Amino acid sequence: MRYISTRGQAPALNFEEVVLTGMASDGGLYVPESFPTFSTEEIAEFAGLPYDEVAFRVMKPFVGDSIDDDTFRTIVRESYAAFNHDAVTPLKQLGSHHFLLELFHGPTLAFKDIALQLLGRLLDHFLGKRGEKAVIMGATSGDTGSAAIEGCKPCEHVDIFILHPHNRVSEVQRRQMTTVLAPNVFNIAVEGDFDDAQAMVKASFADQSFLNGTRLVAVNSINWARIMAQVVYYFVSAVAVGSPHREVSFTVPSANFGDIFAGYVATRMGLPVKQLVVATNANDILHRTLHDNDFSRKTLMPTLAPSMDIVVSSNFERLLFDLYQRDGQAVSDLLARFSQGPVQLDAQAWSRARELFDSFACDDATILEIIREAHQRTGELLDPHTATGYRAAERCQRDTTTPMITLATAHPAKFEEAVQQAGFEGAPLPEHMQGLMEKEERYAVLPADLEAIHRHVNAHRRH
Ligand SMILES: *Cc1c(COP(=O)(O)O)cnc(C)c1O
Repeated sequence: MRYISTRGQAPALNFEEVVLTGMASDGGLYVPESFPTFSTEEIAEFAGLPYDEVAFRVMKPFVGDSIDDDTFRTIVRESYAAFNHDAVTPLKQLGSHHFLLELFHGPTLAFKDIALQLLGRLLDHFLGKRGEKAVIMGATSGDTGSAAIEGCKPCEHVDIFILHPHNRVSEVQRRQMTTVLAPNVFNIAVEGDFDDAQAMVKASFADQSFLNGTRLVAVNSINWARIMAQVVYYFVSAVAVGSPHREVSFTVPSANFGDIFAGYVATRMGLPVKQLVVATNANDILHRTLHDNDFSRKTLMPTLAPSMDIVVSSNFERLLFDLYQRDGQAVSDLLARFSQGPVQLDAQAWSRARELFDSFACDDATILEIIREAHQRTGELLDPHTATGYRAAERCQRDTTTPMITLATAHPAKFEEAVQQAGFEGAPLPEHMQGLMEKEERYAVLPADLEAIHRHVNAHRRH
């Protein structure tokens, strides 16, 4: 399998190179040169198979011969062994045709574990094979750093440094990161805000000379392996409600468009999908684009669903590439105009998007109302991200007899503030996380100064 850039200029890469590369050299994102497809019979065979086995079959065409089958099976098995549910991503019925796909049974209680558990192991495998080492750097406003840390903690060839704003993440979020005492995990509390931390990570990627030749890797959601890992549960859940013999719809709480893009990939691979519904919080660029053809930035709004607080959705470029019939130059031109101000998608591209996608946005007051309403009607306590999806699924459903699967992206215990504002006591932390508040922590507090950060990385990295 070869991968090409959405901007048409960067060289094509194989799977191994794409996993190690992240963003393409022309500023684009890598996508498969063509989508592999499954026949109806092949999809029907997924029914009843363990998650690992479906994962292997769905991802194998993307991996190609970059990894031998036995090794890849082991990587997949180990990635999902740490999940707290036998089904890995269990499905719950909410109403006669409405289902909840629980993606939060991983080590950090949010769906990002599904991709990052795999990505860490893939990186380690490729680096080990090449006899190379890598440093991972990332900035987090609280939530995603822990999933990256958990994914990389078993890696022999990777040291991971995660920057968070000092005293500006919740205690649970901090402890999820700082109580991981593995020798290759380094937490840095930056005396500044999230933007300071992120700016220093960006500057480190722009000029990597401080690492003297050691590879710097990003594990953010533009890495193709993350998308690939997420395609799996679209197949697993669709088959559980009757695919490929009937159509299915999905609703996805969305921010960077990585998760729902994986649903689009499943569709391209042959899964019969009626519609994909994008749910957003008040940071609604996706909704404005899909609903009103208004592709424009708005100021960032902090919300009760903070993992969906974004200004621009990085992975939307991957969809644009297909909407513009894989014309990298057209995508480049559109994004160049977008960086100058509001734009509209070309009418044909926009109507292509609307054949499959619908969208919905809601503010914080509505999120609280939905948490209460969903609990009253179904007995389920939803986290604030999933809540946006619950309402979007109802509002946007094109056909009430097609099963609608709403993705539950986080466990409600992780977002206590919203749950309590909605009038609930809060959900208890699952067993494997109890004791978190008593565990030993390890982290460094550093000034928001790039040289100080680089000195710290070099003093602590093992390679
Ligand atoms: C990251 C995240 C999302 C958004 O996923 P994207 O792939 O960025 O669209 C939604 N909910 C939760 C809980 C998340 O952590």
